[in-house]
Amino acid sequence: MIVSRFAPSPTGSLHLGHAYSAAIGHARAQSSGGVFRLRIEDLDPTRSRAEFVEGIYEDLRWLGLHWAEPVLVQSQRTAAYAAALEQLRALGLVYACFCTRSDITAALAAPHGAANAQYPGTCRQLPDDLERRAAQPHSWRLDAARAIERTGLPSWREEGGGTFESGRDDFDDAILARKDAPAAYHLACVVDDAATGVTLVVRGADLRPSTPIQRLLQLLLGLPEPTYLHHELVTHENGRRLAKRDQAPTLAAMRERGVDGVGLAKDLATGLLPSGFRLGNP
Ligand code: GLU
Repeated sequence: MIVSRFAPSPTGSLHLGHAYSAAIGHARAQSSGGVFRLRIEDLDPTRSRAEFVEGIYEDLRWLGLHWAEPVLVQSQRTAAYAAALEQLRALGLVYACFCTRSDITAALAAPHGAANAQYPGTCRQLPDDLERRAAQPHSWRLDAARAIERTGLPSWREEGGGTFESGRDDFDDAILARKDAPAAYHLACVVDDAATGVTLVVRGADLRPSTPIQRLLQLLLGLPEPTYLHHELVTHENGRRLAKRDQAPTLAAMRERGVDGVGLAKDLATGLLPSGFRLGNP
């Protein structure tokens, strides 16, 4: 029995690529007699908006993709993330980082490729200065080298694709939490996947670089290992990526044009795309 999830960030309107991901996750869960879950990844307070959350519900209803209740909303999960962070701190694998905002914002806002954005390690060797921590905003980072010493390099299972091994270069000292947000993407993602019993993580291939660090966190926290399905991305016919500012393929626009959402989701689940779009790898 598969438990899958769709985990959009309410920072813009959903587009055809999101519908493709959700349709696959929903179909996989249904055909196994399992459960399809919805999670709102609204940890970025500056970019998440209530109207986009409403849009997600409307779009999924229009597509006929029923999700199990309750919906998990990340902004309401502070205590769970704090407990996971404490667990990692107790292992001596976390340090306070006082570096500039920009890389921290990037890690919160755009999971894509964040695992590969190399942090130079500036704050790794600072003494654990309680006074400075109290006075100055800071984030918490994972000491990846120490973490890997403990667990070894993690592997992951790709549905239908066998087992993948990670390499040392796949790991950065990822941000786990920041003062103005209870957790960053990787930590919240693994804590929530485990809390909701997710067995199959369906998401775009652009998020594959996040998988090694997420597997590492699962090992450190003693969380179960899901299987992954990183699917090709929906692009325009010419290979151009769908962008959030790109109005044409938003689901809201398609709904307004009178497109049959339920039919669309069924087609997408079998890999059939509307004309003008195709699947491709990033
Ligand atoms: N919230 C992420 C996004 O919208 C997806 C995270 C995931 O599926 O792991 O890109």
